[in-house]
Amino acid sequence: MKDISESDLQNNIPLVCRQDYKREVIAGNVEIGGKELTHMAGPCTVESRDQILETAKAVKEAGATMLRGGVFKPLTFPYGDPLGQPDAGAKGTGLDRNVVMTLPEMFKAAEKRLAYLREAGEKYGLAVVSEITYASSIDMMTDYVDMFQIGYRHMFNMDLIEVLAKTAKPLLIKRHYGESLRSLLGVCEHFEARGKHNFAICERGVSVAHTHNVDSRAILDIQAIPALKEYAPSVPVIIDPSHATFKRKYVAAMSRAAIAAGADGLLIEVHPDPEQAWVDPLQALGFSDFSNLVSELDGIRNVITP
Ligand code: PEP
Ligand code: MN
Repeated sequence: MKDISESDLQNNIPLVCRQDYKREVIAGNVEIGGKELTHMAGPCTVESRDQILETAKAVKEAGATMLRGGVFKPLTFPYGDPLGQPDAGAKGTGLDRNVVMTLPEMFKAAEKRLAYLREAGEKYGLAVVSEITYASSIDMMTDYVDMFQIGYRHMFNMDLIEVLAKTAKPLLIKRHYGESLRSLLGVCEHFEARGKHNFAICERGVSVAHTHNVDSRAILDIQAIPALKEYAPSVPVIIDPSHATFKRKYVAAMSRAAIAAGADGLLIEVHPDPEQAWVDPLQALGFSDFSNLVSELDGIRNVITP
C-alpha cells in the first residue's frame, strides 16, 4: 500500500484534496459536514412498514437527522430472501430458499420497502439514505432517497460511479476494509473528475488479520479522521461503528472516539428489537441505548468545537 505523495496531490487527487474549497453536501434538508453532527440511524434492513415507522420516530426523538435502511442487501450467500429475512422459505413466506429472485422481482420488493422508508422519513422529518447495489436501479431509487450509499463492496464499481456521477443527490462513499485512504480518495477523484462534488466518506473499519476472532470484525480506523481532514478537508467524514465493530457493546465507545477525533457524524444501526433484526442482529442498538449515546456525542462535540 502506498502513502499519499506530493505527486498524488498534484496529479492524481488534486480536486478532492483542494484545501480552500467549500463543499456543500446536503441531503434533503440536512447539511452534512456543517456545524451540527449528522446522526444517520436506522435498521440494517427495512423489514416492514411498522418497523421503519417505529424506528424513525425513536431516532428522531433521540436527535438523529437522517434515517438509514437497506433494501438491497449485498448478502454473502445467494439463497433465501435477498432482502435479508432469515429462513424466509422456512417461515412460509412464499420464498423458496433454493430459488434466486429475479431482478424484476427484487426491484419490486425493494421499491415497496423504499416507499416505507420514504414515508417514515417524511412523517418524522428525516432525510433518507439507502444503499444502491445495481446501477440500473438508480431511476427507481431516486424517487425515494435523499442520499445514495455506496457499500464497501462497491467502492470501485465503475457502473455505479458512472450513474451516480450524474445524479444530483449526494453520495455516502464507504471505504472498503482493505483499501488505503489513497485509493479511497482516488474513487472520490473519479467523481470530482466527472463533475460530481456532493459526497461524504464513510469509514467502517479496516481489516487486520488478528481481528478476525469472535470479539471483533475490523478495526475502526480512527486515525483516518484527522488524516482525511488533512488531505481532503472539504469532504465530510462519517463513521460507521456498527459495521466496524459488529458488536453492540462496542458501538458507544467507538462512536465517542470518532466524534472526539473530529468526525462529522455517524451511521449507526438501530432496531426496535435488535436481537431479532433480520440482518446484523449483533450490532444494532435499541432505542434507549441510541438515545443515551446521542446525548453523549453532542456533549463531546461541544467540548471539542466550543
Ligand atoms: C450497510 O450499511 O448496511 C452495509 C451493508 O454497509 P457495508 O457496505 O459497510 O457493509
Ligand atoms: Mn448492516
